[in-house]
Amino acid sequence: MTTVAAIIKPTADAPFEVGTIERRAPRANDVVIDVHYAGICHSDIHQAREEWGKAIFPMVPGHEIAGVVTEVGDAVTKHQVGDRVGIGCFVDSCRECENCLAGEEQFCLKGNVATYNGREYDGEPTYGGYSKQIVADENYVLSIPEGIELDVAAPLLCAGITTYSPLKHWGAGPGKQVAIVGMGGLGHMGVKIAHALGAEVTVLSQTTSKEEDGKRFGADHYYATGEEGTLKSLRGRFDLIINTVSADLDIDAYLSTLKLNGSMVFVGLPENTQQFRVFSLVGGRRSLAGSNIGGIRETQEMLDFCAEHGIGSQIELIGADEVEGAYDRVVRSDVRYRFVIDTATIG
Ligand code: NAP
Ligand code: ZN
Ligand code: ZN
Repeated sequence: MTTVAAIIKPTADAPFEVGTIERRAPRANDVVIDVHYAGICHSDIHQAREEWGKAIFPMVPGHEIAGVVTEVGDAVTKHQVGDRVGIGCFVDSCRECENCLAGEEQFCLKGNVATYNGREYDGEPTYGGYSKQIVADENYVLSIPEGIELDVAAPLLCAGITTYSPLKHWGAGPGKQVAIVGMGGLGHMGVKIAHALGAEVTVLSQTTSKEEDGKRFGADHYYATGEEGTLKSLRGRFDLIINTVSADLDIDAYLSTLKLNGSMVFVGLPENTQQFRVFSLVGGRRSLAGSNIGGIRETQEMLDFCAEHGIGSQIELIGADEVEGAYDRVVRSDVRYRFVIDTATIG
């Protein structure tokens, strides 16, 4: 075991504090990673504050991890000491169910091992990226291509893949009208990726305050949903809506902006049950769907795609003592557009 400095949430109600955790000694297939940067995902906040139900404490969140390999187990073949690597939302899966075999480990039937707030199959709790080091099986470690700096690469491991995967699955590309609802961490990546895929991209944000940024990220159109009549004026407009909003939404109003056969895909995960009228679907043979991060193979594909297209996250780099404040700003929709912790500031 190795003692590692980390940013720890002792309970759902207590503030973060810097302390230490134990990491396992590397097994034959493990790589040891010096974490350089860890992104703050809104899912970290939902879990650290127990908005999705009971969580495991003490908690070290962080599933947008970028760093460098410092040690490898005897049987490791995919990564070498010195490699620039990343870890996303899970660090293991059963590897034998039909979804794992199809490369969709995010839907592992046994349940994958979450990077934090989870348990290894032997029962040990997992601790995430708000720490100086992590140890993980090589098969769940991604390669970060040359051409993307580690700090702006970190958020790709969740925000990047969570938007890339549904955009690919629902065929975003030339000739398609794609709307991204909410321009925070996920949303701004969605805009960049949908634009790079060749789609005509519209941002639906609460206000116009981020319009310039949205256009710079690649949006063709930008509308403020907080303004009266906006969604009515967009009736029948989109082939695909990716909803990244972390809060309750008037789903019927958004469904009305879909074309015939259009799909609205939830990636945002509000704590409350949502409601919609069935008529909103039936009227235009529309689909309401959901999507969850992406598998390992697709995550690597996304990283390579982002490197090829010069896409990184737009980040605000923060120190270990700024996490609480950053959480509050994310909740206020005041993030531009992803907070990333510089782990050199821990301990
Ligand atoms: P974020 O940075 O906070 O972005 C969410 C955006 O939603 C905000 O920036 C804001 O955009 C909009 N928004 C917030 N409150 C709203 C409200 N009351 N009404 C309308 N719009 C509102 O969060 P994130 O990290 O992108 O994560 C977004 C959600 O996705 C979270 O629920 C997170 O847990 C979930 N998530 C899911 C997956 C998955 O695999 N499915 C993966 C990662 C995260 P504007 O200011 O532009 O309106
Ligand atoms: Zn996330
Ligand atoms: Zn499985």
